[in-house]
Amino acid sequence: MREYSAYTLLRNALTGNRDWKPAWRKPDPKPGYDVIIVGGGGHGLSTAYYLAKEHGITNVAVLEKGYLGSGNVGRNTTAVRSNYLLPENHRFYEHSMDLWENLSHDLNYNVMFSQRGCLNLAHTPGQLDEYVRRGNALRHSGIDSELMTVRQIKRLVPVLDVSGSARFPVIGGVMQWSAGTARHDAVAWGYARGADRRGVDVIENCEVTGFLRDGDRVTGVMTTRGEIRARKVAVAAAGSTGRVMKLAGIEQLPIESQVLQAFVSESLKPVLDTVLTFGMGHFYAAQSDKGGLIYGGALDGYNSYAQRGSLPLVEEVHSEMLALFPGLASVRMLRSWGGLCDMSMDGSPIITTGPLPGMYLNCGWCYGGFKATPASGWCFAWTIARDEPHPLNAAFTLDRFQRGLIIDDKGQGATPNLH
Ligand SMILES: Cc1cc2nc3c(=O)[nH]c(=O)nc-3n(C[C@H](O)[C@H](O)[C@H](O)COP(=O)(O)OP(=O)(O)OC[C@H]3O[C@@H](n4cnc5c(N)ncnc54)[C@H](O)[C@@H]3O)c2cc1C
Repeated sequence: MREYSAYTLLRNALTGNRDWKPAWRKPDPKPGYDVIIVGGGGHGLSTAYYLAKEHGITNVAVLEKGYLGSGNVGRNTTAVRSNYLLPENHRFYEHSMDLWENLSHDLNYNVMFSQRGCLNLAHTPGQLDEYVRRGNALRHSGIDSELMTVRQIKRLVPVLDVSGSARFPVIGGVMQWSAGTARHDAVAWGYARGADRRGVDVIENCEVTGFLRDGDRVTGVMTTRGEIRARKVAVAAAGSTGRVMKLAGIEQLPIESQVLQAFVSESLKPVLDTVLTFGMGHFYAAQSDKGGLIYGGALDGYNSYAQRGSLPLVEEVHSEMLALFPGLASVRMLRSWGGLCDMSMDGSPIITTGPLPGMYLNCGWCYGGFKATPASGWCFAWTIARDEPHPLNAAFTLDRFQRGLIIDDKGQGATPNLH
């Protein structure tokens, strides 16, 4: 497969763009593989890529029930950051950040990673104290975090009303300058192309409908395109984890699937050059390169497997947006959509061997798994290849909930609505 470069771009431009080849093959499933990955989202594809690149395991199939990008990897609001409080999380997400920084070169695919920062606004002294604590924890681990004054915030986001008469006056904020955004579908396509180039079969329109078993051991999968055997079967099905694991007889997981919506406005001139989060409610926004504001808020708040949301949340998100930016009241919303979030009970992920022999599980990404895509795949590939976790994902076990070793970054307990 051809390298993308300025030369190929120019050559194709001069020859009518007739010579581009598909970015990945459309192979039929083989009877068996060393590793099968269930779910062709960002995490499944990055796992396949790092299995091939880092561990030389290329006899791998990624099975996707729809088309690549039809899940959350193509539905998220693209915020990337590593500013978590607890070391288990921020070390893992900082590794992701390191991988993001070189990802376009590594994949030879422009994922448009843009380090425009992520600013959390504080509206109460208590909130500012919490930001100081989190910022200090990050700085102790060598991760960037800076407390911002109201004056600095106003300079960075002039459209923001920081006056004392604002509905929720801003009293400061905490900034992670290395955070930012990336183009979500490019991440899926880049990993798919990278895995394909190394020999991985990326198979779309192939739904896993059951698991082949030899006693307890998982030995393959049943699919809408026939049975496929495998030495190892890895599940990376995000919001569909519960349904997929039920096919293997695992009825109970510390996961709930809930809908999260996102919105995009009509194109505006540049008004927001960072990812911004509101502290008095659940609202965040960034501006895309095309000018649209990309924004969202809380979960819809009920369990569902539907990739669409409800109207009350549309109203809630917009009321929070206008509390923060009254000046945007006449901006029109262009589109909205929903995705399925695999909410874990402590808000942290699961990347582990098991729960059955021959099986590996990656889930619990809540509404923050896009930023984890590189590190998730990197750690999951390690876990599958070596049958043990890397130190970076050693804490992300399934049995931590039984042992009481939860990783509760927000200190809000087992309440998916609050994560
Ligand atoms: C609206 C919204 C906004 C978000 N914003 C952000 C954000 O700003 N930053 C951030 O970090 N995260 C964000 N997230 C979360 C992030 O998108 C997810 O945590 C992450 O994408 C999940 O991993 P994935 O990419 O592998 O999931 P997916 O892309 O959902 O991949 C799972 C795949 O499994 C497939 N599948 C399911 N069942 C089967 C089966 N039986 N057989 C075969 N395939 C199957 C699905 O079709 C799907 O393609 C957001 C999520 C949503 C919904």
